[in-house]
Amino acid sequence: MTGKIFRNAFLMGVLVLVIAGALFTAMLRQRAAQETYRSLEAQARLVQQVMDTQTLQDLELEDRVTLIAADGTVLYDSRADQGQMDNHARRPEVLAALRDGSGTASRRSDTLQEEYLYYALRLSDGTVLRLCRTQTSLGALLWSMVGPLMGIAAAVLLVAIAWSLYLAREITKPINEIAPDDPEDTYPELQPLVDKLRQQNRTIRRQMDELNRRVREFAALTEHMSEGFLLLDRQGTVLSGNHSARELLKTEKGADLRRCDDTALRQAVETALSGAHAGHLMERGGSVYQVMANPVQSNGQVAGAVILLLDVTEREQREALRREFSANVSHELKTPLTTISGFAELMSQGLVPPEKVAEFSGDIYRESRRLVALVEDIIKLSHLDEGGADMEWETVDLYELCRQVAGHLRYAADNHQVTMEVRGQPTEIRGSRQLLEEMVYNLCDNAVKYNRPGGWVHVDVSRVQGTPCLTVTDSGIGIPHAHQSRVFERFYRVDKSHSKAIGGTGLGLSIVKHAAQFHNARLELRSQPEQGTQITVFFDGVPAERRSL
Ligand code: ADP
Repeated sequence: MTGKIFRNAFLMGVLVLVIAGALFTAMLRQRAAQETYRSLEAQARLVQQVMDTQTLQDLELEDRVTLIAADGTVLYDSRADQGQMDNHARRPEVLAALRDGSGTASRRSDTLQEEYLYYALRLSDGTVLRLCRTQTSLGALLWSMVGPLMGIAAAVLLVAIAWSLYLAREITKPINEIAPDDPEDTYPELQPLVDKLRQQNRTIRRQMDELNRRVREFAALTEHMSEGFLLLDRQGTVLSGNHSARELLKTEKGADLRRCDDTALRQAVETALSGAHAGHLMERGGSVYQVMANPVQSNGQVAGAVILLLDVTEREQREALRREFSANVSHELKTPLTTISGFAELMSQGLVPPEKVAEFSGDIYRESRRLVALVEDIIKLSHLDEGGADMEWETVDLYELCRQVAGHLRYAADNHQVTMEVRGQPTEIRGSRQLLEEMVYNLCDNAVKYNRPGGWVHVDVSRVQGTPCLTVTDSGIGIPHAHQSRVFERFYRVDKSHSKAIGGTGLGLSIVKHAAQFHNARLELRSQPEQGTQITVFFDGVPAERRSL
């Protein structure tokens, strides 16, 4: 700024100097020319008077004298040979003198160094007397002044430096004194700047507020996400991450994920930073996580990556269970089918003696019954796996239901020489009648099946602190402690051959567990080998029907 002010001040000084100098010089010259014309006129009039007594040749004049005839012929010239001179009739001063009595004119010399000033006077005899005096030309005059002008220019330069420094300081002082954050009113010339600053401050504050709000929203959103979330730059360095991701990976801002110890995560990061989507499974602390990495593009270039870590442990476990279930189902179905087809083959080939046909047919019937029971249980389970969405909800009297089920099982109980008793009082709950019946049936069926001759089964329907409860107690063989936590698994049997012999599918308690879950009920198992088993269902949760509302 000082430089600019200096340049302008200096230029202005020089310009003023040159213009003023030139005008002044031109004025001076003009004055000088007028003076010269006046002097030439006086001289010419003097010469006119003495011409009667003296000849022009006799006069010793400093100025050049020319006598011109009315037709322009030069009659006499004090500096040149009049015979050599051309006709002067068209010279402006001569023309003016012939016309008006006197005339002036000025002409430059060839070198431009000098200027000729002419004064012409018409004499009484019609001839024209012309006097000429030389004067230094304007250019030469200026040239002669170059020295002093340079001196003045140097002085102007010094003044310009001092002036510009002072001006720059004076001009910038109020600008420097403006506080950008909170500008105060100042000189009117600077007020637009102050107003602009205030407006921009307001805009910046508004944008900052908006930005902060978004950051807070984003942080609140990501911090409360159970999924891990990470934002990386193009070098794979963590720019930000939510609580879940920090906890899971034990990383902090600035960590380089391309050097982390987990291969799956490393690969996902590398793939995303190379511009492609990546999905890998990663194991951490006994859980399985799906690492989803996506590149972040900016102007067609990969600027970083976003990593999402989803806990898919449950999904993976379900997948594993499903695979195991399919394998189990195939195995369970194969055994009775092999038996049936073997017996049927023998019979079709007439290899079974007539007295054994009834026995073989009985075996085929039993196996096919088991097969049917198994397929029915599988259908029920897969239905429950689907969520049992189409189950009808109704008010069911649990006590009444237990009495009905006990009625169905009376024949089997008699066969096992087991007495069965349903105790309690009408207790209504909301649920699926079909599933509740299934649950009660399986519990009572097991209590009969795994009992001993002369044993008993008690089915109790009651309320414990207001919670409807169903308890099935038997005096049977009991479940060894080591197996108690597993009997609710699919196809799990304590004694496989015994279970099969009595027509068990290994799915009964699994269906009970699912039905209980469906009703949001809690199961409790107590058992002592050789003494008996007690399974209680507490209907203390909010029914799924109401939860979904
Ligand atoms: P299953 O069709 O074999 O009875 P369940 O799923 O109903 O299959 O039961 C799983 C296993 O739990 C049974 O094989 C049996 O060993 C054991 N079990 C179930 N209920 C009883 C009970 N009341 N008393 C003793 N053992 C039982």
